[in-house]
Amino acid sequence: MSIKSNLQFFLENLPPDCQLIAVSKTKPTEAIQEAYDARHRVFAENKVQELVPKYEALPKDIQWHLIGHLQTNKVKYIAPFVHLIHSIDSFKLLEEVNKQAQKVDRTIPCLLQLHIAEEETKFGFSEDEVTALLASDEFHKLTNVTITGLMGMATFTENKEQIRREFRGLRGFFEKLKASSLPPAVSMRHLSMGMSSDYQVALEEGSTMIRVGSAIFGERSYT
Ligand SMILES: *Cc1c(COP(=O)(O)O)cnc(C)c1O
Repeated sequence: MSIKSNLQFFLENLPPDCQLIAVSKTKPTEAIQEAYDARHRVFAENKVQELVPKYEALPKDIQWHLIGHLQTNKVKYIAPFVHLIHSIDSFKLLEEVNKQAQKVDRTIPCLLQLHIAEEETKFGFSEDEVTALLASDEFHKLTNVTITGLMGMATFTENKEQIRREFRGLRGFFEKLKASSLPPAVSMRHLSMGMSSDYQVALEEGSTMIRVGSAIFGERSYT
């Protein structure tokens, strides 16, 4: 299957309120260009050192999303152009994004990453931490970031029921926040959940953004 036909498949099968984020990590710019030529414009990377050269090499109307764990000392490199950061997992990071956004006179949209998986290795807030963060004075002082939704990664397992439970829990929290009174800089528009192996379950559980890599570009080889 070609990149183009893979994209076609998703575009034909996704509900209209769900956006496809093409995860191009480890893939060469040629592969991204191929997707671009098939009129796709929304791509994501998980590493700043990979995102920046791709941003520089490729057409400027691409919307670049950052989906991996982000170190505070790297925020400055992506602040001028990043479209959405999915992986805000600490207040310290959000503060740094705000600071760097201020420097380049932008407001950067961010998602808060929730820890919904069993594995300790995955990053993210608990629900209580998010509730506390959104209510805190420190958060209200941030002028150059907006929170536009939530992101989560399910446990790496074959057990679809477990994955469904985790996504459903995240959706429940998303809806609860949406129904609550939120600060002006916060809106619950995006629920980023689902990747190649579990996007179908994620869609059934209300995802509005699926982050798909290998099902578009083929398997990754880490060498
Ligand atoms: C790599 C990655 C994806 C996409 O993974 P695939 O299995 O290739 O679809 C999605 N989200 C995050 C955070 C990733 O790091």
